[in-house]
Amino acid sequence: MADYNAHTYYGKKCLEYLSPEVRDRLVTDHTAFQMGLYGPDPLEFSGLGYGKVRHYHAVWREEVLPWLAESIRGTDPTARSYAAGCLLHFILDEKIHEAMKPWVKEGSSHYRLELALDSLVLQEQKIPLMPRLCVAHQDSIHHVFPGLSPNLYHMGIGVMAKVVDWFRWRGEALYRKVTQKEWDQAWYLLKLLEEHVPDGAKALEDCLTQ
Ligand SMILES: [Zn+2]
Ligand SMILES: [Zn+2]
Repeated sequence: MADYNAHTYYGKKCLEYLSPEVRDRLVTDHTAFQMGLYGPDPLEFSGLGYGKVRHYHAVWREEVLPWLAESIRGTDPTARSYAAGCLLHFILDEKIHEAMKPWVKEGSSHYRLELALDSLVLQEQKIPLMPRLCVAHQDSIHHVFPGLSPNLYHMGIGVMAKVVDWFRWRGEALYRKVTQKEWDQAWYLLKLLEEHVPDGAKALEDCLTQ
């Protein structure tokens, strides 16, 4: 399951970092922004497959960023809010996946590291129970990646929401599988996330002023 709580936290921090004028220009539809923060990850649950989602992460700067920047500068407030969240999704993933690579080679699990990071993020905010997934409203699914069927996205996020619901109450056993080393690495990831808040905010501003 994707580390959607870490992405939510990062998005919140980046918005707080921006000046109120820029923030209000960028994000007016908070549901669309929240969904953007999930990035393409819900598509993993759509039957489209992990390969395609991995592809989006690998080539996001070349293939997705131009479209995101265009939506951010555009006039549709829902598309702008969605794209702002989505940009922050890719930026955080890039930083975190980069840091995780050598650890995964040494035996840590990508999946458990993200699980641990999500848990630390919730502890940091004193949120006792994992929040439910924000599910697509009809307006924002039209702004999901160009060339992709909104139905596919809708299906993916629906399944992901069910997985999250299961996880909220029965995920405890999975946390027990996280090793001490992975918890320590996840702490480092949390620090990394916080250090990169100015970068995320700057990337958003750059899109507006390009
Ligand atoms: Zn992702
Ligand atoms: Zn990941």
